[in-house]
Amino acid sequence: MRHPLIAGNWKMYNNVSETMRFFDDFIKLVENLEGVEIAIFPPFTSLWEAAKKTAGTKIKIGAQNVHWEEKGAFTGEISPNMLKEIPCEYVIIGHSERRQHFAESDETVNKKVRAVLKHGIKPVICVGENLKQREENLTLKVVLPQVRKALADVELLSGEEIVFAYEPIWAIGTGKVATPEDAQEVIKSIRKEIETLYNKNIAENIRILYGGSVKPDNIKALMQERDIDGVLVGGASVDPQSFYKICAYK
Ligand code: 13P
Repeated sequence: MRHPLIAGNWKMYNNVSETMRFFDDFIKLVENLEGVEIAIFPPFTSLWEAAKKTAGTKIKIGAQNVHWEEKGAFTGEISPNMLKEIPCEYVIIGHSERRQHFAESDETVNKKVRAVLKHGIKPVICVGENLKQREENLTLKVVLPQVRKALADVELLSGEEIVFAYEPIWAIGTGKVATPEDAQEVIKSIRKEIETLYNKNIAENIRILYGGSVKPDNIKALMQERDIDGVLVGGASVDPQSFYKICAYK
């Protein structure tokens, strides 16, 4: 049985003092919430504070990016063991904004996935098509190779050590959410692809999230689909009240 994961990707929002205020409110709000795992992905500068605030609570912390090397002359980069020390349980890899603006490729995604798994950090691997590709019916031709390339030479034990997020680019920050049926269809195909690459057991264990304009009023319908195991929320995760409403979708 896959445990639902509600993840908040803050992107470049919430500085340290805003992070402290967020958790002062949010921790109280989710205190009695059962049946969902909650993870928040603050900017690097807020990770330490977020980890301190959430220590001893059920809220998990993750980073939004990572470098694949252990250490070295890589100005501006952060290594897996630096994240491990925070401690980060998760890290987002290959978000479309990084692929688009920072030249992230399937090859660098794969290097990062392999690097973080060595440290026991769970990657949340993002895949998704753009509007033109969707309109030309190329969604699976884009998304499934992204999945395959991310997992090249990746050994999985149970499948619980990684998470995928299907985030159609046309749905990110646009208010245009994919229909639950469309999201389900793509996510089911991703699971099938993983079964082909590994086996049924691993495919059934891997959690696959949907991301793109998730809000308190559309989460419930998405979560009713069989293969959607959670959501990766951008804009609506920055504010404690709206993110709480999403976490409390049940
Ligand atoms: P929005 O929820 O703001 O559309 O962003 C989705 C996203 O990119 C999460 O990683």
